[in-house]
Amino acid sequence: MTGLLGAGRVLLLGTLASILCAANASAQAKPLAGADVPTIYERLLKQIDRIPIYDNHSHATFPDDSDMDAMAAPPDESSVLRLSETNPEFVAAAKSLFGYPYDDFKPEHAKWLIDKKKAAEAAGGTAYWDSILDKLNIETCLANRVALAPYLDPKRFHWVFFVDSFLFPFDNHEQVAKNGDMGVYIPLQEKVLQHYMKQESVSALPVDLAGYESFVRQTLAYNQKKGGVAIKFEAAYFRSLFFRDPPREKAEAIYAKYHAGGVPTEEDYRTFQDYVFRVLIDQAGKLNLPVHFHSAVGIGDFFSLRNGNPLNLENVVRDPRYSRVKFVLIHGGYPYTLDMIWMTAPKNVYTDSSLMGYYVYPSELKNILKQWISLFPEKIMFGSDAFPFNDAVGAEETFWLASRSARTAVAAALAELVSEGAFSEEKALELARMYLHDNAAKLYGAKP
Ligand SMILES: [Zn+2]
Repeated sequence: MTGLLGAGRVLLLGTLASILCAANASAQAKPLAGADVPTIYERLLKQIDRIPIYDNHSHATFPDDSDMDAMAAPPDESSVLRLSETNPEFVAAAKSLFGYPYDDFKPEHAKWLIDKKKAAEAAGGTAYWDSILDKLNIETCLANRVALAPYLDPKRFHWVFFVDSFLFPFDNHEQVAKNGDMGVYIPLQEKVLQHYMKQESVSALPVDLAGYESFVRQTLAYNQKKGGVAIKFEAAYFRSLFFRDPPREKAEAIYAKYHAGGVPTEEDYRTFQDYVFRVLIDQAGKLNLPVHFHSAVGIGDFFSLRNGNPLNLENVVRDPRYSRVKFVLIHGGYPYTLDMIWMTAPKNVYTDSSLMGYYVYPSELKNILKQWISLFPEKIMFGSDAFPFNDAVGAEETFWLASRSARTAVAAALAELVSEGAFSEEKALELARMYLHDNAAKLYGAKP
């Protein structure tokens, strides 16, 4: 408590209190919202709909493009209720975006939508995806992909590239054999590593760790030159997000032992990964590339909640050596959303509402945003996690679902806070702009 309410904070709180008192003598917030919430909500939503969105995380893509992600869904994974194919909201999305004339996705109906999208893909050019963003008032969108696609306009879609593959350069037979999910994920990581080696004209793994490190550093620099604006770890799907800090000599010995063959022990592989992870963080800091982490529940029946808990990253994001590295913990840490907002307390840590924004309905997203806004409103961003679920329900419909959910949820959260006397409607709109656009624009725009 003493740490939090240090002299500076007390002074700041005192100043804030006197400003608030000057504005309104009876301005203490009330615990109950009033009957005016629906009218405040309608007024705010009208304004919030006009705010252009900066989308912190999406997989803008046609469904048959294998570059959409560095991993794939494992077979027979369980799905949350809202993402079931029978969710009527997806029909509403298709009607709103394309004038879809049917009320379900029966195969003979879905064909209408699939044909339309296939025709857009065949036509080529960047106009189609720009038009989807325009319809939803999304100005800029980060596209998390293996490579940027020719059909995405680089002015609107900024590339976030994957780096987990650098953690898996050795014989991965034991990794693959761990469970069905890893059997799907790891061969794809090997493919991405091959892709990067080809790109950097590296025909075989370098003979020593120094060579491997420079391959890693070069790839990041080259991808940034091609338009990359951030790096992304999906590591929570493959291992614990707790990264130790082994000395270089240990990693050097492990690399020497396995680079030309042989299956590493679990401990050796993990030590090597812990080291290379830090090379990646260090290089991202040098290049001023923000570092994205999947930090939430994940798909697949073997995803470990404990290993994926974003609190595992605390030793990294609060490490003074990385104080200039920008960490973006995407998906809000869901379900650990309250832990997550406190993870963003350091100046260089951010989060977004991607994924969870379409896992839960807007009424629950409202509750999460209300808490986040009350704590660190300058650290939260919108993210769609737009992704194609099948040939009919595509990234287009998930862009729609995520953006409608976020606009309505943030309007509702702010309407309650205004009604409770927390702040004015004017301040509410400023906070909405920060969440939907300004925080992300500032984060990615502030290049040296
Ligand atoms: Zn995603």
